[in-house]
Amino acid sequence: MTAAETQIGENTPWQAQPLAKMKIKGLGAKSREKLAKAGVLTFGDLLALLPRDYFDYSRILPIPQAPLEKQVHIRGRVISRELSITKNKRIPVLEILVDDGHGTLRVVWFNQTHIHDRIIKNQTLSLFGKIRYERNGRTMNSPNFEVVAAHANPETGEPQIEPVYREIGGLRSAQINGWVQAAIQQIPREETLPAKVMNHFLFPSHAEAISRIHNPENSVQLDQILKRQDPAWRRLVFEEFFHFHCQRIQAKQQVPSRHYPRLQPHDRERDAFLAKLPFQLTGDQRRVIDQMTAWLRGGKKLNSLIQGDVGCGKTVVGLAMGWFFKLAGWQTVLLCPTVVLADQHYQKAAQLLATLGVRCALLTGKRSRTEIREVLEGLGGGQIDLVIGTHRLLAEDVVFAKLGLVLIDEQQRFGVAQRASLLQKGREPHYLAFSATPIPRSLAMTLFGEVDVLQIRQRPAFQKPVRTALKRAANRDEVVAFARKRLDAGESVFWVFPLIEGEAEDEERSANAMWQRFRENEFAGVSVGLVHGRLDKDRVDTEMTAFKEGRHRVLLATTVIEVGVDVPKATVMVIEGADYFGLSQLHQLRGRVGRGGRQAFCFLMVDGVPDKDQLQRLRFLEKHDDGFEIAEYDLERRGAGEFFGKRQSGVSDFQFGDPWRDRDLMQAARQAALAFLQ
Ligand code: ADP
Ligand code: MG
Repeated sequence: MTAAETQIGENTPWQAQPLAKMKIKGLGAKSREKLAKAGVLTFGDLLALLPRDYFDYSRILPIPQAPLEKQVHIRGRVISRELSITKNKRIPVLEILVDDGHGTLRVVWFNQTHIHDRIIKNQTLSLFGKIRYERNGRTMNSPNFEVVAAHANPETGEPQIEPVYREIGGLRSAQINGWVQAAIQQIPREETLPAKVMNHFLFPSHAEAISRIHNPENSVQLDQILKRQDPAWRRLVFEEFFHFHCQRIQAKQQVPSRHYPRLQPHDRERDAFLAKLPFQLTGDQRRVIDQMTAWLRGGKKLNSLIQGDVGCGKTVVGLAMGWFFKLAGWQTVLLCPTVVLADQHYQKAAQLLATLGVRCALLTGKRSRTEIREVLEGLGGGQIDLVIGTHRLLAEDVVFAKLGLVLIDEQQRFGVAQRASLLQKGREPHYLAFSATPIPRSLAMTLFGEVDVLQIRQRPAFQKPVRTALKRAANRDEVVAFARKRLDAGESVFWVFPLIEGEAEDEERSANAMWQRFRENEFAGVSVGLVHGRLDKDRVDTEMTAFKEGRHRVLLATTVIEVGVDVPKATVMVIEGADYFGLSQLHQLRGRVGRGGRQAFCFLMVDGVPDKDQLQRLRFLEKHDDGFEIAEYDLERRGAGEFFGKRQSGVSDFQFGDPWRDRDLMQAARQAALAFLQ
């Protein structure tokens, strides 16, 4: 499901009208091109550009009362103005002091030379931004501002609320606002939800709802909108979910599935597999295998998602299934997001399955031409039972003799299209995906529809919980000293950063800068590796492998480090700027240490003074170790959009709704869609 598909009322033609066909004052070809680049192509797209914020001119806070970390509006006179350049990166900084008669506040802008001329001493400014506690005290960083003139509505003299839009390719908020306002005037009055629904929920009309989101009438309404409680907001969420469910229900009705492989795995076969394992399965692993075997015996098609914390042993469950399929004469494919992971799985599978007579192969772009040709021939000729590989598997030249089972590891790393292209390589293969993002079952059901969600909560007994502690960045020395001790004991250290490269003030949160520093100072004499998303894939693979094999002892990384990579010697995980991450993400990160049975440690580094909420969130991690519990706690606080990160397909692509936060509407919309389609 892409954003375009879930747009409100996408069946109604007026919303699909290209912008070029609309008469919108001041919106010329050049601007349309810029909008198009950002995916804003139609009338509907334009209206769905939500304000990222609102300037509420009616609510100005006295400086001393303005809370930290919240978007606030203050107004004051510029009493000093100073231009300087940062020492390290030579970035221009404009720093002013404003006085509103109640107190003063420091305000800074980094690298925004275009505003320097607009700010003059003694002028009165309206400033919108967040105040944080920094080294030099309370500071507002790069706020939006306006030189105070008439903000009042010229007609009524009333204060106004102004929507603020994200800049798109150099198009400013004010321009976008003008176009959106013009578009609002042109929304047809016809209703886009069934009359029954409208009567039941007493929603405002579509046009009214859209208009109100862009133009809240007063502060009370604005509050309700920001809290996602305003009926206008709830209507748009409902509508989006309603269409989502309608599509899904219709799609499901269209594909009767009949041609998938039938097999009758026998207990004897399972026991033969278990006998070869170097360890005992946990109860959960066994339960999941038995569940799937029972489904197969009952003639059901596997369409499952197996969720479990990092290290709970999901792979072996997939291999067991591959074994059953091989016995029934079917091929299995296992798709992995990276070469390192594919390698790792291949080593394990080959070791385990070879003695059972399962013929395994590895297919990645890294292999030689001859090797690749051999694998391709083996797949086409049916001599290979299980192939493990990367994106290379999706290429057209990969053809299977008899593909029966598709396994996808770390499924959140793949898009819908990639999954589909792999499934197409068989007539109607069974499907099994793995994920270390634990999603509460109720949410998973709504998101993944007919997919059966299976959970592994238990962990292999040898894994001890990772000891976790919060640390102030100011006390990094202690953590370094601790890490050095572990290095002396022959163990390895992960050090994770939220940024690749940062502005001067973010230096300690950026992987690149700290890599330079660590190699010269903190970890002089130790081999320190670096991986981040801007390095090419090959480089990331080499660095990861060097760390895995112990040639690098410390690895600095952004979150690109593969979820599944097994580095048994790694026992320390340090996460800088921990407050930048979601709890589940932190939990997954720390799951990368302690996979070798030794006691592992995780340090969550926080800068400055985190607010109470943030502290409480992070402390939860110190005390809890169950990924599902952590996920629920985090979802409750941040909603699904934030939880999954904006990039993840299929989960947070809703414009208005959040499948977790708005789960009541999700349910209601599903009921309404079912009733409507009957
Ligand atoms: P994940 O769920 O993170 O994908 P893996 O499947 O990679 O976990 O398993 C992690 C490690 O634990 C592997 O080395 C695997 O061989 C091992 N393992 C899996 N199940 C068990 C078990 N029941 N007992 C002991 N070790 C296990
Ligand atoms: Mg895994």
